[in-house]
Amino acid sequence: MSAGPVLVPDNLHRFPDLHPALSGQAAVVEASRCLFCFDAPCAVACPTHIDVPRFIKKIANGNLRGSALAILDANLLGLSCSRVCPVDVLCEGACVLHRYNEKPIQIGLLQRHAMEDFYERGAKLARVAREDRAGKIVCVGAGPSSLACAAELRLQGFAVTIIDKREFGGGLNTYGVAEYKLRPHDSLREVEFVRSLGVRMQQAEVGTSVMLSDLERDYDFVFLGLGLGVMQRMGIAGEDLHGVVDALRFIADYKTQMAISVGRRVVVIGAGNTAIDAANAARRLGAEEVHLVYRRGEAEMPAFDFEYEHAKAEGIQFHWQLLPVALLGAAGVVNGVACARVELGERDASGRRSPQPIEGSNFVIECDMVIPSLGQSRLTGLVEACPGIAVRDGCLVVDRATGQTGNPHYYAGGDCINGGREVVDAVADGKRAALAITRELDSRRDQAWRI
Ligand code: SF4
Repeated sequence: MSAGPVLVPDNLHRFPDLHPALSGQAAVVEASRCLFCFDAPCAVACPTHIDVPRFIKKIANGNLRGSALAILDANLLGLSCSRVCPVDVLCEGACVLHRYNEKPIQIGLLQRHAMEDFYERGAKLARVAREDRAGKIVCVGAGPSSLACAAELRLQGFAVTIIDKREFGGGLNTYGVAEYKLRPHDSLREVEFVRSLGVRMQQAEVGTSVMLSDLERDYDFVFLGLGLGVMQRMGIAGEDLHGVVDALRFIADYKTQMAISVGRRVVVIGAGNTAIDAANAARRLGAEEVHLVYRRGEAEMPAFDFEYEHAKAEGIQFHWQLLPVALLGAAGVVNGVACARVELGERDASGRRSPQPIEGSNFVIECDMVIPSLGQSRLTGLVEACPGIAVRDGCLVVDRATGQTGNPHYYAGGDCINGGREVVDAVADGKRAALAITRELDSRRDQAWRI
């Protein structure tokens, strides 16, 4: 598995940072606004429980390295989290300054300020891995949950290998997050940091060139950070026409390839955060019009509000209560989306209203590219042969306190247990599993001594 740069140079101009970095002086001024709360709600709201007042205080005092180390104490992927976390609904959303009608502390930008300084200075931790201890662990998948799990276990002194089928590590951080939020360069800096701790990286596809049974035999524990599978298909005619590219492939392609063609008139289907990322990217890559079609209403849109506002500012045109019924084409190339208007029925148990097509309301949106974004399929086939690993609603079932599956040999974390949440949730899962595995290996060692 390579950690070489895949950054496409032109993208730096096409996708400037969504939020410009703070200057050194602005960071000190912003940090000095913090009240350094006791029992800080911002730290409680963070899934990895970063000690926010502690790292902010160090910025206010000019101790950027100390600040970064305080972040890394809780979250070894503090750089990517500072860029991709939905801070409005996590730490900044919980800041007490809201109660005084003041702007919350810009925690994400302050964290990024400290972490970028850490990486600029060579990314060296104060603590190093303890002397090697007995215990071998393999992490399947190189996304955030596996990176966090592997790094924590390595720091505890265990031998850890990450196996992933893709050329570059980082998972969705490298391949699936929009460029203006997190560049591959930053994601790969974190991969390289984890490797520098002594974690071994291997490129192989588990289930084909390496089997889970081999890993079970060769390692004490297996951590499954499988992520999710390919985008779900719509199940309508025309999905295989040229010019139909699913959102994750579209994002991965423009992040890793020098040249990518984008249509003049693009239709994105779906209204989650990935759909918005793809729509914004299509616009930045030169599409004159980008239409986003969603079968439910604005209130039901799964994307975060700030993502929606950003997309509107980019000029994306939203169409609510429209159901694509077929993709149309000529000579094998897509040229339109046939849609029906829908009425929304009664709310179901999950609070969502089911769309019902209105007879005679069909019409066509002409386009030369379609980007479906209906959510990813679940990747549970790999574990079907593993006794004891239960799957519910397409997700692996784990003990929430430890991340252990029903098979004591296997732990799991990230999207494969939660169906697709934030990077910081995956990091928290990986760290929790690493600590549980450490306790398990320690207890085995204690038992061996007693014998
Ligand atoms: Fe600072 Fe706001 Fe956190 Fe209090 S809640 S410690 S003011 S960032």
